[in-house]
Amino acid sequence: MSKYKLGLEYAKEQDQNDELSHYRNQFHIPKNKHGHELIYMTGNSLGLQPKSTKSYINQELEDWAKLGVEGHLEAKNPWLPYHEFLTESMANVVGAKPIEVIVMNTLTANLHFMMVSFYKPTKTRYKILIESDAFPSDKYAVESQLRHHGIDDKEGLILWKPRKNEELLRYEDLEAILETQGDEIALIMIGGVNYYTGQYFDLKRITELGHKNNCIVGFDCAHGAGNVELNLHDSGADFAVWCTYKYLNSGPGSLAGAFVHERHAYDKNLNRFTGWWSHNKQTRFNMRDEFDVLPGAEGWQLSNPPILSMAAIKASLDMFNEVGINKLNDKSKKLTGYFEFLLKQLGEDTIKIITPNNSEERGCQLSIQVKNANKNLHNKLTEAGVISDWREPDVIRCAPVPFYNSFQDVYNLVEKLKAILNE
Ligand SMILES: *Cc1c(COP(=O)(O)O)cnc(C)c1O
Repeated sequence: MSKYKLGLEYAKEQDQNDELSHYRNQFHIPKNKHGHELIYMTGNSLGLQPKSTKSYINQELEDWAKLGVEGHLEAKNPWLPYHEFLTESMANVVGAKPIEVIVMNTLTANLHFMMVSFYKPTKTRYKILIESDAFPSDKYAVESQLRHHGIDDKEGLILWKPRKNEELLRYEDLEAILETQGDEIALIMIGGVNYYTGQYFDLKRITELGHKNNCIVGFDCAHGAGNVELNLHDSGADFAVWCTYKYLNSGPGSLAGAFVHERHAYDKNLNRFTGWWSHNKQTRFNMRDEFDVLPGAEGWQLSNPPILSMAAIKASLDMFNEVGINKLNDKSKKLTGYFEFLLKQLGEDTIKIITPNNSEERGCQLSIQVKNANKNLHNKLTEAGVISDWREPDVIRCAPVPFYNSFQDVYNLVEKLKAILNE
């Protein structure tokens, strides 16, 4: 017997018993033109705005107006060390030590900066392994790194592919690749949670496999950060990168995160691209000193950062810190399990869920393949007030986000889908 039940009453009851339900009220929920709240299922693409964000940004605007350049030291939250105010809570969200985490740049830029340091091809070991349906930006970034080192981007790229008629990746197949080509692979770079299937990989297992074969291992956690408990430190990964505008609710194009494992924190010989913000804070403003790199992930910063974007990140991280990623994760598992339960009632010959059914191997996103569907279905859903994401040829991605989505959201979404399919 399922632990979930059918019917609207059950959904209402679950919302009443949900100790996080009041957080929905702390976000702006987009509305249709009649003022009705939409069913927002795309927090995996752009997280919603916390109501507190405005006042965090206003604080910095006011201090800038009042203080000008003095704000670097005199602002309520001085701008000079502002990024440090984010470190601990960001480290908590991704399961890292503070020295391993930095908020800087944007995601694809960080991926490049990490590869500058950690992709060090030699004559015999120069290939990069990625998953075959990696996010396009990751694939382009990796290919351009290969070309940058004078390596043919087809020859140098190894794809970890799903088997025929399957969507998910199998670890046996990764093991097989490493067995035959492990000594040619310099870098393994995988999306920690695949953006398309929602498959959450075992980061530790992949890292151990990679390290056993002397490969560097990095992850793009754009779909993991704020969604699953990444435990980056324990995974042992060499580096990771992520953005903050998806599950981390920090606004369109906001700054990104990077993780460099503690074991690399004091390695001053690690090659990197640098700027004055990677230099020793004590002597930074002497302006003439020989470069002296900061320890840890901070040593990868280049520039003094955009404070307005960081203020939005701080607003969001303060909320994450208050709740804790583990509590969000508990709700996420319930909410996503309930979503899966309701979808299954529509009949497995109509709906196929690509995302793993094991709750340890996914976050809150379900990727739904609808038989004989085309973009028209997605358009109808949108008309019915559901904001979801369509991927050609026939997949709808929906992410019930534990911070602001409710059991009733999920119930209403499936009812609307059912109505459209029965037309
Ligand atoms: C969202 C996403 C990106 C987007 O990169 P930006 O540099 O932030 O534009 C890249 N990779 C993955 C895996 C993503 O999910």
